[in-house]
Amino acid sequence: MIEKRQFYINGQWVNPVAANDLNVIDPATEEVCAVISLGDQADTDAAVAAARAAFPAWAETPLEERVSLVKKLRDIYTARREDMAEAMRLEMGAPKDLATNNQWGAGVWHLDGFLQALESFEFEYAMGADRMRKEPIGVCAMITPWNWPMNQVFLKAIPALLVGCTMVLKPSEIAPLSSILFAEMMDEAGFPAGVFNMVNGDGVGVGSQLSAHPGVDMVSFTGSTRAGIAISKAAADTLKRVSLELGGKGANIIFADADEKAVKRGVIHCMQNSGQSCNAPTRMMVESGRYADAVEQAKAAAEATQVGATTEAGRHIGPVVSELQFNKIQGLIETGIKEGATLVAGGLGRPEGVNKGYYVRPTVFADVTPEMTIYREEIFGPVLAISPFEDEAQAVQMANDTVYGLTNYIQTQDDEKRLRVARQVRSGMVETNGISRVNGSPFGGYGQSGNGREGGTWGLEEFCETKAISGVPLN
Ligand code: NAD
Repeated sequence: MIEKRQFYINGQWVNPVAANDLNVIDPATEEVCAVISLGDQADTDAAVAAARAAFPAWAETPLEERVSLVKKLRDIYTARREDMAEAMRLEMGAPKDLATNNQWGAGVWHLDGFLQALESFEFEYAMGADRMRKEPIGVCAMITPWNWPMNQVFLKAIPALLVGCTMVLKPSEIAPLSSILFAEMMDEAGFPAGVFNMVNGDGVGVGSQLSAHPGVDMVSFTGSTRAGIAISKAAADTLKRVSLELGGKGANIIFADADEKAVKRGVIHCMQNSGQSCNAPTRMMVESGRYADAVEQAKAAAEATQVGATTEAGRHIGPVVSELQFNKIQGLIETGIKEGATLVAGGLGRPEGVNKGYYVRPTVFADVTPEMTIYREEIFGPVLAISPFEDEAQAVQMANDTVYGLTNYIQTQDDEKRLRVARQVRSGMVETNGISRVNGSPFGGYGQSGNGREGGTWGLEEFCETKAISGVPLN
């Protein structure tokens, strides 16, 4: 049994002020795999005080020194790749290969993207006779979810470190092991005491305390829209900056002239990470001429999606993260059936032959209409909803018929149409024809998908204040 009750505050591993144990459950076995502590106000206060005290010196530390420490962290993270993958496998049920490649790899990918963006990032520039400065905003609270644990930690901690902020990380209490290991790596890299602090806790405890804390200048949050609203309200009294990366219900618009593999690609993308990605293309919209074929192809692709043990190598999907999520997903599948959607693959219960672990059957519904719950709600499981559309205008209207606006997807071989539709859909990101966005491209959404932009130059700017100085021109 892993026991990790301590917090990382001011460069030391310290005991919580009051004991408050929480079990971490391995979703593949439903068994306790670790025990951590949940912090409370006194732990939060100590971490914020350490970050405040460290801020002036860290903000003034030459950029090359900050960069060199981040590069050292990269080396340690690379050397301990297997340990990190194992932590994520245990805490959130990512199968071994997904954990070692995609989940682990996301961290390095973002770190490299930030270093590249930094090369052309102007901390000072002239505007006429004025001097513009980008300065670190100060002490940042980072509240992260469980679905892509290191992806989110790197998207927040690395840019904040690079621009000179200090921080308190509160990872998801459901998946804290990877962040505890990350804190060990920060310690080994030798960042000055107080620059990076980590306190475990839940949302109502440490999460709310950080959001309301007068010693925190900014909250950077990734998670549900529900928690994003609660954090915004808690932060309002101190008017701190709140950067939000929230949920999504991405449309994948497949026109009749889309390439052959468009449907299969969409299903695989939807099911990846057991459907637990905010940017998953969960609403597949297919032009009527191709609809019947698409439903058949989606059925085949879902049935070909293997579900398997997290300890086994391979491209299969694992369980969903918790009993709570499992039950929520089962409830939504049941609602889909009750509301009249056509179940074409998967359905209720665990996959055949599986009687333990939070494994969900890769599920596809067809004939999903906009009033249905599964069209509107983020399911966060391997469940795809397919709907037909008649023409371009209707496709755009349907894609935008959501409170979310994170990523939409367009599949057509008509380049003019592709751009025309991309311009009309209301989302922070649009991916077309299966082409991924480049490293450093901003990640974030419209509407209830949040207000922040992470990654690359945009991600560095998130953690900066802008100062305009007159009369001291930049020569
Ligand atoms: P969650 O909102 O329940 O929890 C996320 C984090 O917020 C956890 O650390 C939790 O302890 C904390 N938290 C919860 N309530 C809080 C409160 N009232 N005050 C302060 N902190 C609080 O979300 P989750 O279930 O861990 O993650 C899944 C959600 O995250 C999905 O909705 C998904 O779409 C979203 N997500 C968004 C992005 C993005 O970049 N847009 C990326 C990944 C996940």
